Amino acid sequence: LFISFEGPEGAGKSTQLARLAAQLQAHGQAHAVTREPGGTPLGLRVREVLLDPALTIDPLPEFLLYSASRAQLVRNVVRPALARGEVVICDRYADSSLAYQGGGRGLDAGLLEQITREATGGLTPHLTVLLDLDPAVGLERAARRGQPDRLEQADLDFHRRVRQAFLTLAAADPTRFLILDATQDQDTLAAQVWQAVQARLP
Ligand code: C5P
Repeated sequence: LFISFEGPEGAGKSTQLARLAAQLQAHGQAHAVTREPGGTPLGLRVREVLLDPALTIDPLPEFLLYSASRAQLVRNVVRPALARGEVVICDRYADSSLAYQGGGRGLDAGLLEQITREATGGLTPHLTVLLDLDPAVGLERAARRGQPDRLEQADLDFHRRVRQAFLTLAAADPTRFLILDATQDQDTLAAQVWQAVQARLP
């Protein structure tokens, strides 16, 4: 079972990811938690490049860097873990690229999908939890944690396009996506996530 978490910064992805991992642990279900970009030594180096404020990276090379990290992650981490029968939980996956580099930066969706298919070998999550949040609220939450968005500053229009792209992706694939209102309290969200995961566990 391959599960991804998506949503803007400040939506509580890391918290819900950790809570799901704890639930799986409590149920004796082997699992692997990973993130992108990151999750492999190459991914970590790519992450440093992507987050380096001294670099200006155009949308296409930005997307290709995310894709490079993703391709390595799928080959070295996700597929092997799935083959061992583990539940794999990934903090962001291809939908983030379709939303940020596609919806947000305006790259052509068909191109992004084609390269993503190559990079992932077509591996798509069985469940994608979308923590949906008004970007104004998300940015405020992130700023309160001392983590202002490093990449987009307070570009609300950008984040609104990203949110819309996530919601459009979710609407196109309702069996894969679980859309959750991220303004709900953590316990409520965790219960909703767990219910969806349990329903998909073998
Ligand atoms: O995963 P995390 O929330 O730390 O991601 C940090 C930021 O990286 C996101 O808010 C977004 O600005 C950026 N990002 C991106 N394109 C992706 C994935 C993440 O621009 N494909």
